Amino acid sequence: MTRHLPPGLTEESFAEAIQAFRRVVGDKWVLTDEETQLPSYYDPFAIFEADHFAPSAVVKPSSVDEVRGVVAVANEYKVPLHPISIGKNLGFGGPAPRLPGAVVVDLKRMNRIIEVDDRLGYAVVEPGVSFIELDNYLRERNIPFWVDVPDLGWGSVLGNTLERGIGYTPYGDHYAVHCGMEVVLPDGDLVRTGMGAMPGSNTAYLYQYGFGPLYDGLFTQSNFGIVTKLGVWLLPKPAGCQAYMITLSKEEDLGQFIDILQPLRLNNTISNVSSLRSLLLDAAAVAPRSHYYTGDGPIPDSVAEKIKDELKIGYWNFYGAMYGTEASIREQWDLIRDAFSAVPSAKFYLAHEHDSPVLATRAKIMAAQPNLETAEILKWTDNCGHIDFAPMAPATGEHALWQYQTTRDLCREYGKDYMGNIIVGRREMHTIHLVMFDFTNPTDKERTYALIKRLIAESTKRGYGAYRGHPSIMDDLAATYSFNDNALLRLSQRIKDALDPNGILAPGKQGIWPARLRGQQF
Ligand code: ADP
Repeated sequence: MTRHLPPGLTEESFAEAIQAFRRVVGDKWVLTDEETQLPSYYDPFAIFEADHFAPSAVVKPSSVDEVRGVVAVANEYKVPLHPISIGKNLGFGGPAPRLPGAVVVDLKRMNRIIEVDDRLGYAVVEPGVSFIELDNYLRERNIPFWVDVPDLGWGSVLGNTLERGIGYTPYGDHYAVHCGMEVVLPDGDLVRTGMGAMPGSNTAYLYQYGFGPLYDGLFTQSNFGIVTKLGVWLLPKPAGCQAYMITLSKEEDLGQFIDILQPLRLNNTISNVSSLRSLLLDAAAVAPRSHYYTGDGPIPDSVAEKIKDELKIGYWNFYGAMYGTEASIREQWDLIRDAFSAVPSAKFYLAHEHDSPVLATRAKIMAAQPNLETAEILKWTDNCGHIDFAPMAPATGEHALWQYQTTRDLCREYGKDYMGNIIVGRREMHTIHLVMFDFTNPTDKERTYALIKRLIAESTKRGYGAYRGHPSIMDDLAATYSFNDNALLRLSQRIKDALDPNGILAPGKQGIWPARLRGQQF
């Protein structure tokens, strides 16, 4: 394993910094062993060498005071820190730092559910609280609220919100339903945003804005602070929940389907963040690729047809849920079926009417039951990883078709299967293209990376910007937001330099480099 030291540090100064970290958090909570300890902080789906985005050490503070102590040491020795909550940001780098040699600040030990208000419906959590843990807490106490959950429930509520992650109930936009943050700034100062800035405030987790500028967004997808507490709004448990699937056996029906769907999302007939998944993505949840195809190159259309028949699903499979009383759900189902009956190849199933394991998983997630079942897709091949290209698009059929056709054709050109997950908001869609690869195969990694770069280039030409990205493409993605000579990035850099003059916090995250490292390649 390559040993990365933080840039600018010598072995001696690094050793001194490690000693200082040990004094803050205790010996046991500083990890430095490259063989036994650091590899669990590598990106599990490394697109470069396994240890390219490797940390030089890991520190595990247990309190806000210890976080501030860690930040003080980092400033003294100019050690770059990379904060993570639980580090399950799969497809986007996992726990790995953007800057090789940064010290990961693993906040998992700070895992208190500080407060749950079962009347006003909010929770206050520390970074180490997972969706599964918060859900358990609510269920064990019969608190009649749900926490909206993403595909995999093992990640943290706080980290996912900071990355502007999504879930699939009506509260699916996690940033939109957060309220109040506590943040350790890069100079060690401690700030509470919004109403929480008033000592004794009784609306810190109820009203998002406070008095004066609103800073919360500044601490998402950024490197301007370490967030140590987050308020999150909970969804009142509905009277009932009924998941359903609509399959489209013709790939070209995608456009018409989206055009019918978008107004139904906008007027709330379909109230949850619903998703439309491509055939092979769903097939991957059922059996490994070798079960369907053992030939060379991408899975051919003729084989795809057979997969559709075998699994009794469509080329596209839409997953939604209806919430409310039985009568209301019946009414919603009538409206939904009526609307989509115009799509020639559409077939309709309530959750119990089809034995698809994907439908069973989606039904749980849309009913806010966190689980790990979506990880089944990683059995697609041996050593299966994925890197995601995730551009936003207007929620119209034309854009859905362009995204699909362009990505599918490029995937084929690079010898890859097309796997797409279109997550449909009210006006926009996250069009998430998962590119699977063998993380032990250098040739496969190279062409996967080349494909991702092409996807960025082609999408940018047409005005599609990514909502999130893997460390290996953060600079590329930041460069696509280039209006007025990269004014946005220049603004981020000015904020970075003002808040973090020593450039210690998550250098390079989201393409934002501190002055002392700007212009270098890492
Ligand atoms: P999860 O907990 O869902 O597994 P991660 O811990 O991997 O998510 O966090 C995703 C990303 O969000 C991290 O790579 C980091 O950039 C950022 N992040 C996570 N937690 C914090 C935090 N407490 N403060 C600042 N940034 C954070």
